[in-house]
Amino acid sequence: MTTMIEVPHGKPEAPADCTLCPRLVAYREENARKHPDWFNGAVPSFGDEKASLLIVGLAPGVTGANKTGRPFTGDWAGDLLYATTDKFGFSTGDYAAHPDDGLELTGAMITNAVRCVPPANKPVGAEVNQCRPFLRNRIAALPNLKVILCLGKIAHDSTVRTLSLKLRDHPFSHASEYPLESGVTLLSSYHCSRYNTNTRRLTPEMFESVFDRARTIISG
Ligand code: URA
Repeated sequence: MTTMIEVPHGKPEAPADCTLCPRLVAYREENARKHPDWFNGAVPSFGDEKASLLIVGLAPGVTGANKTGRPFTGDWAGDLLYATTDKFGFSTGDYAAHPDDGLELTGAMITNAVRCVPPANKPVGAEVNQCRPFLRNRIAALPNLKVILCLGKIAHDSTVRTLSLKLRDHPFSHASEYPLESGVTLLSSYHCSRYNTNTRRLTPEMFESVFDRARTIISG
C-alpha cells in the first residue's frame, strides 16, 4: 500500500531521480547497474510549451524512452507516433530514434501517465496514482491546450481522474471524444504499441484518423 504524496510546487515534471514509487526505483536502479550509459530516470515530457495538443502515453519502454530519456524515442511505438505527428504537422525534422535527432514538436507535447519505466511495461494502479499529480500539473501548465489525446486505456483513465471527471461518464474506447466544460476535448486511441499494431487492432489509418480529428478541433 503506497501513501499518496503531494507533488510540491505544482511541478509538471518529476525529478529524474524521483523516489515516489519503490518498485519503479528498484527497477530503475537495476537497469542503471546493468546499463550505466542509459538515461534510467523519470523521463520528462517532450515538446512545445505552447502546445494545443497534449499526447499522453503510458510509460517509458525499457530499451526506448528509458534508455534515451525522451518519450517514445527508441520504442517501437515511437515509429508510428512520430511518423503521425509529422504527417499532421505537429513536428518538424526527421525522427531518428535518438534525442539528438533534431526533431521538434510544434504545437504538441508528449508526456506519459507514468514517468518511470515499469517492469514488463505494466505499472500497477498505485504507481499510476502516485504519478498523477505530475500529469495534472503538466496539463495545468499548458495555457493553449485544446486537445488531450490519450494512448490506451490506462492513460485515458488516469487523465479522466486527473481532470476530476467520472470514468462512468467518460469510458475509454478507440476514437472516443469528450468535449469538456473547460473547452479542452479529450480524445483517445488504442495505444500504438507493437502488440496493437502487429495484431492490427490499431492500423496506421485508424491512428491517423484520430490525429486528423485532433487537427480539425485545434484548427477550430
Ligand atoms: N514509450 C513511451 O514513452 N511511452 C509509451 O507509452 C510507450 C513507449
